[in-house]
Amino acid sequence: MKFKEIDVSEKLLEGIESFNYSTLTEIQEKAIPIILESDDLLACSQTGSGKTAAFLIPLIEKIGKLNNKGIKALIITPTREICKQIEEQVIGLGYYTDTSCFAVYGGNDQDGFSRQKQALSQGADIVVATPGRLISHLAMGYVDIKNLNFLVLDEADEMLDMGFYDDIINIIDKLPKKRQTLMFSATMPISIRNLANKILIEPKILDLNFSKPAEEIEQQVYMVWDSDKPAMLSTVLKNFKDQKVLVFAATKMNVGKISAFLRSAGIKNSAINSSFTQQERNDTILDFKSGKINVLVTTNLLSRGIDIDDVNLIVNYDIPDKAEDYVHRIGRTARAGKLGLAISFIGEKEIINFNRIEKLLEKAIPISENPVIIPKGPEYRQISKAKKKFYKKKSSNNTRNHKRSNNK
Ligand code: AMP
Repeated sequence: MKFKEIDVSEKLLEGIESFNYSTLTEIQEKAIPIILESDDLLACSQTGSGKTAAFLIPLIEKIGKLNNKGIKALIITPTREICKQIEEQVIGLGYYTDTSCFAVYGGNDQDGFSRQKQALSQGADIVVATPGRLISHLAMGYVDIKNLNFLVLDEADEMLDMGFYDDIINIIDKLPKKRQTLMFSATMPISIRNLANKILIEPKILDLNFSKPAEEIEQQVYMVWDSDKPAMLSTVLKNFKDQKVLVFAATKMNVGKISAFLRSAGIKNSAINSSFTQQERNDTILDFKSGKINVLVTTNLLSRGIDIDDVNLIVNYDIPDKAEDYVHRIGRTARAGKLGLAISFIGEKEIINFNRIEKLLEKAIPISENPVIIPKGPEYRQISKAKKKFYKKKSSNNTRNHKRSNNK
């Protein structure tokens, strides 16, 4: 979804454009409508997922429609670094809407404290604060929070880990009861759920944390030189005649090449990528769903969201750069408890990508032996330092089977 499609002011869109954001991240697509609808929210989302803009964009939009005085939104964060980052994002996103923001954190001199005091008593649209320093100001009674509309707890699990529970409760006790409260956390331990129960009212819950692939998906991996991948694919597909197969490639160009190769090898297939019109995509997906075509070649475009029943086989012709994409891709099979198979071809340059996938899965996947007509591929190995560390930790649990196993 593009930012142009969301229901916010032109001025805010200009601010968003100044960051060169065009497409919403998953958390943004899910959280922004909830916040605009004025619901409380508990969102579980990793740092780096775009969660800051996910709450700032709707907050800035809503604040633009208010005309009360004083502080309208309070964002509490665990560290001064996060405080500063959020302040910078408010300044950028809210530049054309004239949204004022002030960051309140410890570790500065008396002058800094006085400036904070002045800002807190005069009021800014948004105040971003670390708990300890905010408590010091609140205790002195000049913080203008009587009209506060929004409270955000960012990195809530981190704040609890740092021992800020009492401070948070202490702050919340001083805020108006009628407000919209948003909690963002990278994890959802029981302590976070308890805090959410205490401070949120009928919240919407978003849990975007990574989930492991379903047990029903059998994963097979082959080491294949790039030049042997076409022959490997047609060999595999011969065993899956009349079954639904999704083939994932890294680029649009590869999609075209694979599709053409398969056609020349007599394997009927269709291809789609992001250059196709929506109509073309819909028609092709419909043909695949109805069984008119059994082999569909695509990019990550189809790795998420679409629900096609009965995909028997996923082929990762190319290994995705992002480990999460592997999980999304193979999740297209074994839906609704059915069994499914995912076969991946690892080329020489993709070994590092597969290292990352195994790290994410927290397990090593045995390498299968290539069919007899396909030459032995590159040797699988661990490449990054991080990977070495991971294997050290895991070696007591998992024994990597680099020996060729049966090739079913
Ligand atoms: P966060 O998870 O809020 O720390 O954001 C991680 C990074 O993603 C930051 O550098 C943001 O500027 C960036 N970011 C946030 N939303 C988007 C988006 N929709 N498109 C591209 N980058 C984004």
